[in-house]
Amino acid sequence: MEVIQSFTIDHTNLMPGIYVSRRDKGFTTFDLRITQPNKEPAVAPAAMHSLEHLMATWFRNSEAKDDVVYVGPMGCLTGMYLIMTGTYTVQDVRQLTIKCLQWILEQTQVPATTPETCGNCLLHDLPMCKWESARYLDRLQHDFHSEYTQLVVTLDDGKTFADA
Ligand SMILES: [Zn+2]
Repeated sequence: MEVIQSFTIDHTNLMPGIYVSRRDKGFTTFDLRITQPNKEPAVAPAAMHSLEHLMATWFRNSEAKDDVVYVGPMGCLTGMYLIMTGTYTVQDVRQLTIKCLQWILEQTQVPATTPETCGNCLLHDLPMCKWESARYLDRLQHDFHSEYTQLVVTLDDGKTFADA
């Protein structure tokens, strides 16, 4: 098995922000990195689950809704994946995500949290979701990161280069 591309990123230097994880097959995967991997506590599972419901609801109702393919949490619980069609840049997605987080901070309930609509409807935490959203919003507005550091790419001919 080959090591997949996202595992070649140096996670020890990854700052919260928004990154283009990959562009292929007509899709762009944006890495909405909420916490600093292995240095800050990851988002708690219940808060991340609520964030997923709220972010997916917002993006699928947004001006970009026709281009939204998928919104879902990373297994490491340090961020969210947003997969889009179209030609969105990191700055486009930054502005969309800022609007999304501002909307989340106004919410008083999490959508779709009944046994009929959610696979683990008791695993939700809106207050902690809003706490994480507020911190991430502040970071997107005032301490924004979007460039991977020390990403080493190996080409087919064996040459490597660092993309920073
Ligand atoms: Zn759910």
